[in-house]
Amino acid sequence: MAKDYYGILGVPKDADADDIKRAYRKLARQYHPDVNPDPAAAEKFKDINNAYEVLSDDQKRRMVDLGGDPLAPGGGGGAGGGPGGPFVGFQDIMDAFFGGSGSRGPRPRTRPGADAILRLDLDLFETAFGVEAPITVDTAVLCTTCSGAGTAAGTHPKTCDTCGGRGEVQSVQRTFLGQVVSSRPCAACQGFGTTLPHPCPTCAGDGRVRTRRSLTVKIPAGVEDGMRIRLAGQGEVGPGGGPSGDLYVEIHERPHDVYARKGDDLHCKVTVPMTAAALGTRLTIKTLDSEEQLEVKPGTQPNSTLRIRGKGVPHLRGSGRGDLFVHLDVRTPTRLDGDQERLLRDFARARGEEVAELSKQGGFFSRVRDAFNGH
Ligand code: ZN
Repeated sequence: MAKDYYGILGVPKDADADDIKRAYRKLARQYHPDVNPDPAAAEKFKDINNAYEVLSDDQKRRMVDLGGDPLAPGGGGGAGGGPGGPFVGFQDIMDAFFGGSGSRGPRPRTRPGADAILRLDLDLFETAFGVEAPITVDTAVLCTTCSGAGTAAGTHPKTCDTCGGRGEVQSVQRTFLGQVVSSRPCAACQGFGTTLPHPCPTCAGDGRVRTRRSLTVKIPAGVEDGMRIRLAGQGEVGPGGGPSGDLYVEIHERPHDVYARKGDDLHCKVTVPMTAAALGTRLTIKTLDSEEQLEVKPGTQPNSTLRIRGKGVPHLRGSGRGDLFVHLDVRTPTRLDGDQERLLRDFARARGEEVAELSKQGGFFSRVRDAFNGH
């Protein structure tokens, strides 16, 4: 059975040449082995190539429309060079369609530098109120021997003999796309078009050297874990002394042993005895930067939360601060001595609250257990 070449390219039977070209280009971007390392993609790309070879050729396409397969053995494909043809690079395919980037020309020796990133560990106090943090960065900086030129004193770059200064060498391939002229960077000069007969002894021609620098970074109040502070121009100097990239300082906030942070709000837990929750009390809470009196009202229930407004983390943008939430953990007393137990029983009786006597006559729990055991 003939292959469904239209289906492979995902175009209708009445697609015109432009539709077919567009579909092929889209699929080539997705499945070409140069851009997709999956072996299954390579197989798929072969099919896509075949489909394009057939449907972009009026004669072969007519054969398909009549139910034939021009690529089948003996299918009369003619002198097409066989299915798939020679291997064509991804960039070459793109060039063939876009008319080629033509002469890409020599690449400049001076290029912009890369950005750098650095992790900065801060504690909650520092992220909340800001800090001037000393940092050490390890980046490429300008070579002071050659000021970025990459050449030894008194020498100059020389035009490359192999490519004549173009920085690339061209080869012509015959493929199913027609003649594809492909350009490769010149190996003799790495595409620069020039060579350095006498490179700078300090940087070996790169125009930059690696070094360790100390900086102070100003961290604003209210930053959060994972945020990045950008220091313009403090990244890597580019090859050939090109402009520096930026340095990003990524904030990592160490967990605090008392406060958990949620956005600009802080949460903490305070344990209060059952009696204090019942009778009410005043607590002194240490916030990040002050001490606050907090009133626990009589009859406060377990898992109650009290809020201290404006004692959280300052907002990074705008004014004001988040809130501090104090979660009350009401503790039931344990290990009562004889007097304490008696007092509690008297209290319960006064409240009309039934008390099962666990320890003495087998209380509520042991009665349930006995029921389970069939006693
Ligand atoms: Zn140098």
